[in-house]
Parts: sequence; C-alpha cells; structure tokens
Amino acid sequence: MHEVSIAQEIIDIVNEYLPSENGNTVKTVKVDIGEFSNILPEALSFGFEVLTCNSELKGVELIINKIPLMIGCKNCGKRTQLEEPFFFCSKCESADVEILSGIEMKVTEIEFNDEKE
Ligand SMILES: [Zn+2]
Repeated sequence: MHEVSIAQEIIDIVNEYLPSENGNTVKTVKVDIGEFSNILPEALSFGFEVLTCNSELKGVELIINKIPLMIGCKNCGKRTQLEEPFFFCSKCESADVEILSGIEMKVTEIEFNDEKE
C-alpha cells in the first residue's frame, strides 16, 4: 500500500511547519490528489490516521481534494477533461497532448487551531 509512504510525505511536509510561530496546533491539512495519481483517497486517509495516531498530529483532519484529469492539445489548443485515461484530443483527435492536471499530489493548505491548547 504505497499510500502509507504518501501519507508519510504529507506528514513530513506538515512537520516542516511545526511548531507554528505562536505554537498553535494543526487543525486540518488539505491536499490535492489527481484522480489518476494512482493514490486511493480512502487508503491515504487511513494511512495518515495510522501514522499520526501516536504523534502530535493525532486527530488532524486530512481533507482530500480530487483533481480531475485534464489534457491540453498541442495541435489545436483544446483542453479536455478525461473520464478515462485515453490521451487523445476530443476535438481533433491528436495524440500530441500534454497532461495539465490529474496526476499531482500536493499539500495546498495547513490550517492551525487559533488557540494554544
Ligand atoms: Zn486537438
């Protein structure tokens, strides 16, 4: 289950911001997960929970924002959102396309609790 190592990466990123300037604790962590990043959100949530349950990040909510797969055609410029990973332009059917989104995994926001507990 590679989601555990992804969860660990997220935790490492969050830990870089700890402690916050005024010592506040982390409340939520938001991540963008591409629908074709090969990461299962449920498995990622589970891995995150397991890895944090004995740490200062215990109880932190991981909010997963799924990013659809988008390609851009280098031939005609058309942008297409794909339901399946068939990498052809929907307009001119060119295969000369680039992936714009949908394969990423990134931490977008770390929210801290307002008051120190
Ligand atoms: Zn095209």
